[in-house]
Amino acid sequence: MTERALSGGCLCGEVRFEVTGPLVVGFACCCTECQKASGSAFSMSVLAMAGDFQVTAGEPRLWMRPGPSGQASAQYACPTCSARTHARPGYSDAVVSIRTGALDRGREVTPAAFFWTREAPEWFEPPEGVLAYETQPADLAEVVAAWRARQA
Ligand SMILES: [Zn+2]
Ligand SMILES: [Zn+2]
Repeated sequence: MTERALSGGCLCGEVRFEVTGPLVVGFACCCTECQKASGSAFSMSVLAMAGDFQVTAGEPRLWMRPGPSGQASAQYACPTCSARTHARPGYSDAVVSIRTGALDRGREVTPAAFFWTREAPEWFEPPEGVLAYETQPADLAEVVAAWRARQA
């Protein structure tokens, strides 16, 4: 997935967005919170620079999700179909976290890493060649490097 412009949106089409720069990294999180939040086995996201992201249609509904260290993140979803589209993480103003499933071509995204595998569903095995962390890495450098190696 190397194109410069990506589009995406919610399930019903009311909320649409565009990403005009390269994706910084993509990963999945298997923690129980992400299972609850997604209603599924894990969540999958890509990060883009905040300046490269814009909502082009609709007005996403905002929910402030409390974070483990008091850094709440701003979670956005469609007010009509409730599909989650993106978030502004509490740890950085520089990036936007986009739900991979919200991208029109999200199925082309392979995550560079799986986080919180110790809380993953019992049947889960990380795919071969993808980083896996029992919890989460201290910083994203190794994951970003693995992501870049895959895009090259
Ligand atoms: Zn919608
Ligand atoms: Zn998680």
